[in-house]
Amino acid sequence: MKKPFVTDEKLKEITATIPTPFHLYDEKGIRENTKAVKQAFSWNPGFKEYFAVKANPNPTLIKIMGEYGCGCDCSSLTELMLADAMGFSKDQIMFSSNVTPKEEYILADKLGGIINLDDFTHIDFLEETLGAIPEVISCRFNPGGLFKMSNGIMDNPGDSKYGMTTEQLFEAFRVLKAKGAREFGIHAFLASNTVTNEYYPMLAKILFELAVKLQKETGCHIKFINLSGGVGIPYQPDETPNDILAIGEGVHKVYDEILVPAKMGDVSLCTEMGRFMTGPYGCLVTKATHEKHIYKEYIGCDASAVDLLRPAMYGAYHHITVMGKEDQPCDHKYDVTGALCENNDKFAVDRMLPKIEPGDLLVIHDTGAHGYSMGYNYNGKLKSAEVLLKEDQSFEVIRRAETPKDYFATLDGTSEYKKMFPNG
Ligand SMILES: *Cc1c(COP(=O)(O)O)cnc(C)c1O
Repeated sequence: MKKPFVTDEKLKEITATIPTPFHLYDEKGIRENTKAVKQAFSWNPGFKEYFAVKANPNPTLIKIMGEYGCGCDCSSLTELMLADAMGFSKDQIMFSSNVTPKEEYILADKLGGIINLDDFTHIDFLEETLGAIPEVISCRFNPGGLFKMSNGIMDNPGDSKYGMTTEQLFEAFRVLKAKGAREFGIHAFLASNTVTNEYYPMLAKILFELAVKLQKETGCHIKFINLSGGVGIPYQPDETPNDILAIGEGVHKVYDEILVPAKMGDVSLCTEMGRFMTGPYGCLVTKATHEKHIYKEYIGCDASAVDLLRPAMYGAYHHITVMGKEDQPCDHKYDVTGALCENNDKFAVDRMLPKIEPGDLLVIHDTGAHGYSMGYNYNGKLKSAEVLLKEDQSFEVIRRAETPKDYFATLDGTSEYKKMFPNG
């Protein structure tokens, strides 16, 4: 059974001062997990996790992970600005973007971050933009076809917009070297949310074999290999969580089999995990506000898809705990919904839960990654707050909720705004 990281009693204390809905994060969980990641790859002296900022761009959480040596994986102007403002620079910043605007390359270069090129045509684009190719450069690989694992998890790189073909990658290394690059990296992201210890080792084998060929045939020195993100978490209560120590050992074995004999034992590994770093250590706290009995039974709550888009967007499962009713039988079938005028605004469909009364607190699990950050403002809904449950069980608002003033702020300066809000 999935248990929330917060007790009913503590949550009542928090909601007495902070109105629902809000995302709550577990400092202790984030710290323990980050330590485990560091431990799992400690056999590789150059290892670095670049936290995928898009998964959760809250500086308080990024700072916690930074204490264990994590850097930032950025993919947009504001993510770069955030990393910079937090004091990250140079090899603490990985810039893995696609369809990249000029100003983003300019800022990434100014901060000294590592630029990871998504496409062959970006070589000329980058050179034009910066006036020169940086000495350290990385390229993103897309092997095409299908990527399969033994438990049936599969993804379709051949159908994804990212990365370069094998031929383009070899050519890119030659061209980049001729244009002055000295140290090279390769990157690939082949499957998302993999709940198996097999993914990283399988990906590592593909990238390590490729790296050996690349270094041999192009003479380019490969400094690092970036396994990117994709390590998953058990959203479903019956799934077994990934064992990061086993994953690290699996990659170690492949490293010793492929890179070491090729005299490439100096290659540093890096990762860009997002979901695995923070996903399980966040939850969306919402209050049941309405019940409705028509052809189905509905529970309406004060959060909506603007706070957590994954169920609406992908039909993703997020476990729900009705606080204080953990031991009651799940004998009621509900659709749990938000208030958007969109019928996909449902956190759960046909979910068996204990009988819910208006006023009950619901914990929607595993919202620590791709939760708040995917939020939006449809229907004029305001984005929720973010709260940190600290190791000592005290709590702190680490992002306030939006107010109507925030919502209308971008109209500021228009002639209509002055008529609508003459007093500002
Ligand atoms: C989204 C993304 C990640 C993080 O993915 P997770 O599945 O959250 O681990 C890492 N790198 C890149 C380039 C991404 O787009």
